[in-house]
Amino acid sequence: MSKPRVAILGLGIMGRGMAGRLLSAGFPVSVYNRNREKAEPLAKAGAFVADSPREAASRSDIVMSMVADDGASQAIWLGETGALAGASQGSVLIESSTLSVGWVKELAMLATKGGSNLLDAPVTGTKPHAASGELFFMVGGSKAALSKALEVLSVLGREVQHLGPTGSGALVKLVNNFVCGVQAACFAEALAFVDVSGLDRGKCISILANSALASPLIKRMLASMAADDFTPNFPLKLMTKDIGYAIAEAAAKGLTLQTAEPALEVFKHAVGEGLGDQDFSAVVKSLQQS
Ligand code: NAP
Repeated sequence: MSKPRVAILGLGIMGRGMAGRLLSAGFPVSVYNRNREKAEPLAKAGAFVADSPREAASRSDIVMSMVADDGASQAIWLGETGALAGASQGSVLIESSTLSVGWVKELAMLATKGGSNLLDAPVTGTKPHAASGELFFMVGGSKAALSKALEVLSVLGREVQHLGPTGSGALVKLVNNFVCGVQAACFAEALAFVDVSGLDRGKCISILANSALASPLIKRMLASMAADDFTPNFPLKLMTKDIGYAIAEAAAKGLTLQTAEPALEVFKHAVGEGLGDQDFSAVVKSLQQS
């Protein structure tokens, strides 16, 4: 059987790796990005570059969005040139961006009205995992839609896990990222603590790097610091967004995320210092004591 036609909407750090991966695996791919220049390398690799999300969706059986936030997702799906307007009956729509649960649920209802099915399928993994098909998909939505999308998701991910109804994937992703954000903010503060205490930073870091606190996330931060390279794999402003969405989602359920709120302040401070487009690990710079 021929491979399904796929649209990738959003060619940022993640979307462009995912589109490249699908092209290498022989899928017919249409791409759309607000800033068209980012589509050029994919056009050379065989992708059709659409003028609008609607055009990309109209050429595809599976339509995936991978954009910054709720506002970007709304710009991609809604309106006359939006992907919902182009989606064909029976197509599967996949929202892989990290978004608020409320917006994902609203989008799923709009998709159903138009005769498509939406899965929320955010991911863990970062730039290299997107390009090499090693993402982890956390999926909410119908099992029937997932089984139609599985051929595509299993080329992009090492694991695809169905978590329940619409919004389940989005929710688990927010739980994951608020904990990552708290860890990162806490570690940035720990280094500031080391610095004000006059301790040898290098020696302390090598002890911490081999202690129980050295989670994969902290190891990533240490690697960026060691190389003094904060080129974004995961932009700091997006971590800030995720912590904010998690706090709002928990609040809607009557829960205060007591550790997330100060972490959000730390990240907002870093954005205010102009670090938003750097990797999230640059949060250490905003608390650095000279
Ligand atoms: P990114 O590199 O900053 O790319 C953002 C994308 O969103 C770009 O294609 C951008 O288009 C588009 N966009 C932003 N505002 C828009 C708008 N108003 N209308 C239309 N398009 C808009 O982000 P990323 O790292 O690829 O992340 C994409 C999503 O995946 C985010 O939700 C992020 O939280 C999530 N995520 C990221 C990682 C990671 O490690 N990077 C890991 C897991 C999940 P332009 O190019 O035109 O600006």
